[in-house]
Amino acid sequence: MDNTPLPDSYGRLLTYLRVSVTDRCDMRCIYCMAEDMTFLPKAEILSLTELERLCAAFIRHGVRRLRITGGEPLVRRDVMAFFREMGQWLGRPGGQPGLDELTLTTNASRLAAFAEDLRACGVRRINVSLDSLDPARFARITRRGNLSRTLDGIRAAREAGLALRINTVAMAGVNDDEFDSLIAWCGEIGADLCLIETMPMGETGEDRTDYYLPLSGVRRGLERRWTLEPVPYRTGGPARYARIAQTGRRIGFITPMTHNFCESCNRVRLSCTGRLYTCLGHEGSTDLRAPLRAGTDDAGMMDHVRAAILRKPRGHDFLIGRSADDPARVTRHMSVTGG
Ligand code: SAM
Ligand code: SF4
Repeated sequence: MDNTPLPDSYGRLLTYLRVSVTDRCDMRCIYCMAEDMTFLPKAEILSLTELERLCAAFIRHGVRRLRITGGEPLVRRDVMAFFREMGQWLGRPGGQPGLDELTLTTNASRLAAFAEDLRACGVRRINVSLDSLDPARFARITRRGNLSRTLDGIRAAREAGLALRINTVAMAGVNDDEFDSLIAWCGEIGADLCLIETMPMGETGEDRTDYYLPLSGVRRGLERRWTLEPVPYRTGGPARYARIAQTGRRIGFITPMTHNFCESCNRVRLSCTGRLYTCLGHEGSTDLRAPLRAGTDDAGMMDHVRAAILRKPRGHDFLIGRSADDPARVTRHMSVTGG
């Protein structure tokens, strides 16, 4: 069987795949979705079998880390069967195709029910999105989330022994007075924290330029109160980390807008409809669903994948634009491609 790796035209080998398993979500975060989202018809979404087949093909060709995301991955009814199947690729003998890590990004609203099962499938580390520890503010940001449910999910994850990273989208005038308390809370619960700049993806009914907050300034502010020691720690994602001396935990910064993190990017994203996106900041994508549903064999599918990866751009060109037709604005929602 052909197991050759997948290089792009800049020599970066593909080892990291993010898969969005649904565009649906039980929240409507102001930076991510519009209040009245129209979700895709079920027939558009890859079935479990289709997802498994594509992921297995990527793993055979060198993908070592798989992150499951959405939408909210845990609202998909058959998602645990998918985790069980993907978990079979963990812990394979050295030199053989297999996964080093299976993980997910979740809003934790349903994590209390799934944390133990996820651990049993081989998940060891998860990212949980949480933008505020204030119940009213949390409800306002997520439009329909409930902080205590999310905190229950986080507690269950800790009890199941899952390592946690809390993802917080930094928003001027929304949660920029909470970073100190989030750092302290993460210290208490033994989680890393990652601050994320807002990216202009998809219409949300809000003007993100109103609360766009460059993290370079946030970091300078944090350094007045906390001692940030740079660390080389990397997870294969775009975050750059420091260790906070006072808590012993890491803080990460994802700065797509102020810092170009593309040079070492080895990631591609598979959307829930089977489109392969080789860069979060570009519209270009390749449809894998049509050939898959037309009965193309694995070798033929990999020809499509290989061609897409060779078109992976060197870097993105995000810019916070003022208008919807700004060329630098990406029209798809993060929930379709997977954050
Ligand atoms: N529903 C899950 C969650 O919220 O963790 C997984 C999917 S969500 C799209 C993945 C991540 O993308 C979350 O951490 C979220 O905060 C982030 N995100 C969504 N839209 C974003 C945007 N416009 N800019 C920056 N981050 C965004
Ligand atoms: Fe849902 Fe996650 Fe988007 Fe919030 S960020 S609306 S939880 S997909």
